[in-house]
Amino acid sequence: MPQATETPRTAVPQEIDVVIVGAGFGGMYMLHRLRGLGLSAIVFDTAGGVGGTWYWNRYPGARCDVESMQYSYSFSEQLQQEWQWSEVFAGQPEILRYANHVADRLDLRRDMRFETRVTEAVFDEATRRWSVRTDRGDAIRATYCVMATGCLSAARMPDFAGLASFKGSTYHTGHWPHEGVDFSGLRVGVIGTGSSAIQSIPVIAAQAAHVTVFQRTPNFSIPSRNGPMPDAYAQSWKDDYIARRAEARASRNGILAYPNDQPAIDTAEPERSAIYEQRWASGGTTFMAAFNDLIFNQASNDTAAEFVRGKIRQMVKDPARAELLAPTSHPIGTKRICVDTDYYLTYNRANVDLVDVRDAPIEAVTPDGLRVGGKDHAFDAIVFATGFDAMTGALTRMGIVGRGGETLAEKWQAGPRSYLGLMTSGFPNLFMITGPGSPSVLSNMMVSIEQHVDWISDCLAHLAKRRVDCMEPSLAAENDWVRHVNDVADTTLYPRAASWYMGANIAGKPRVFMPYIGGVGAYRQTCEEIAANGYHGFELTGPAKVAVAAE
Ligand code: NAP
Repeated sequence: MPQATETPRTAVPQEIDVVIVGAGFGGMYMLHRLRGLGLSAIVFDTAGGVGGTWYWNRYPGARCDVESMQYSYSFSEQLQQEWQWSEVFAGQPEILRYANHVADRLDLRRDMRFETRVTEAVFDEATRRWSVRTDRGDAIRATYCVMATGCLSAARMPDFAGLASFKGSTYHTGHWPHEGVDFSGLRVGVIGTGSSAIQSIPVIAAQAAHVTVFQRTPNFSIPSRNGPMPDAYAQSWKDDYIARRAEARASRNGILAYPNDQPAIDTAEPERSAIYEQRWASGGTTFMAAFNDLIFNQASNDTAAEFVRGKIRQMVKDPARAELLAPTSHPIGTKRICVDTDYYLTYNRANVDLVDVRDAPIEAVTPDGLRVGGKDHAFDAIVFATGFDAMTGALTRMGIVGRGGETLAEKWQAGPRSYLGLMTSGFPNLFMITGPGSPSVLSNMMVSIEQHVDWISDCLAHLAKRRVDCMEPSLAAENDWVRHVNDVADTTLYPRAASWYMGANIAGKPRVFMPYIGGVGAYRQTCEEIAANGYHGFELTGPAKVAVAAE
C-alpha cells in the first residue's frame, strides 16, 4: 500500500524566509499558515511523502489511539466536513490517505522536498540568518527555522551484539517496509511490549506460524472497542464541531474524555468498580479520566491498576502468564497507556510464547535468532518494537548550532531546556512544534500542533509589524519555565516510572520529565498571555528583513 507521493526534486532557492523541517501534520499546517502570511517557505523531509509518523509507522495493526473525529485538523471547516473516516479509531493507511488529501487540497507539495535530510542548521550571528544544509547538497539561508520533526521520529534499535549476523529479516516498527511483510509460516520474535508491540502482536500472531514476545516491562493496555464509524456518530461531531473543538482546546489533554470530577480515593466500592467497568466497556485512553486523582494519588492509582490487572487475569487463561503480563513496576498511566484490539487474548493462542527478559536480558542476536539467559531462540524474522529517542532525538541528531558555536546537543546534555517548548535560548529564530516543555505527547497531537503553528504564525506576523526579525527567549524566562515544568511534573506520579517521557529508555539520557503536564487548556492560556504582553520573556531585536502580508 505505498502512499509515497514522490515529488520530482525541483531546485531549492538559496534564500528563503522560513525553512521547515518535517512534512508531518506540523510541517504541513505550518507551510499553509506561512503562505497565508506571504512568507516564502520550504519543507524538507527524509520521507518520500507527507504524513510524518504515519508515513513511517506502517507496522501491522498501526492505528491511532485518539478517535478519528478528534484526530484531524480543525483549522478548515471544509476539510473537517468533507473527510469521511471509516473507523472510530483510524488505521495508519487511512490517516496517511488523509494527510495526502490535505496536501492535495492545499497544494502543499510544490514547496516540499522529500527524501532530503537536513544535516546541519547553523546560526550566523553577523547576518542573523540560519544556514541550512541537506544530504542532497542543498545550501539555503533562512531567517527562521521551524522544527516540525515530531516527538517520536528517531527510531531506536538496541545495540545487541551480533545484530548483523542474523540470517533472517529484521524490522523496526517505526521503519516498516512500504510493501508490507508476509509472516505466513514464519517463526517471529517480537522485542518490546509498548504501544507499537501491543498493536502489532495480535495481527502478527494471526498470520505467523509462531510468535515469541520478549517482554522487559509489562504495560497497561485498555481495549479500543474500535469498529466501523457509525454515520450518526460522525454526523453528530460534524454538526457540533465548532463547540467540541473549542472544548477540546480548553481541556486537559486536547481530547473530549468526559472526565469524572470525582476522586477515586473518596469513592466507595462497589461504585468505584462500576465506574471503572463503564470506562473499560467504552474503551480507549479515556480510561484514565475515570477519576480526577489517578495521576496524583498513589492509593487512588492503585485501585485503577488493580482493576486492569484483574481484567488481565480474567482474559489470560494461564495464571502464570497472566501474572507476567500484569504490570506492577509503575503506576498506571505514568508510562503511556496502551490501547489494543485483543492483545491479552492473543496470549491464549497456542502459537504465542512470552519470555520475561527483565532479569535475564537479551544477550545477543545470533545467526539463527536471539540468545536470552543462555538459551537460544530460533527465528525467521525479528521485530524490534523498541521505541524512539523520544522528544529530543530528532533535534539533537540534526547538527543544530546556535550562538557562539554551541550545538543543541551540547546545550541539552543535562536534559532539554526551553521556554514554553517553543524556543530555546542561544538559538534565535528557531521554533519547535511540540517541543520538550510543551504538552505535546501528553495530548491529542493535532490540538497541540495547531496551537503551536498558530502561535508561531501570529508571532512572525507580530515581528514583521514591529519591524524586528530576531527573537530569542531570555535565559531567565527559560529557567523559570523549566522549573515550572518540573514543579508541575513533581505534583504527579509520572516521575515514578522509568518511561520514555523521562528519557529512561535510552542509556545515558538524563532523567528529566520532558513534556509539560499542566494541561493543554492552561498551557494555551499561558502562551496567549505571553503573546498579548508583547511576547514577555522573549528578546526581540534587529531591523526586519522580512515583510508579511496583512492577515
Ligand atoms: P516504547 O513505548 O518505548 O516501547 C518500547 C518497548 O521495547 C518497551 O517495552 C521496552 O521495554 C522494549 N525494549 C526496548 N529495548 C529493549 C531491550 N534491549 N530489551 C528488551 N526490551 C526492550 O515504544 P513504542 O511501542 O514504539 O511506542 C512509543 C510511543 O509512540 C508510545 O508510547 C505512544 O506515545 C506512541 N505510539 C502511539 C500509538 C498510537 O497512538 N496508537 C501507537 C504506537 C506508538 P521497557 O519498557 O522495559 O523499556
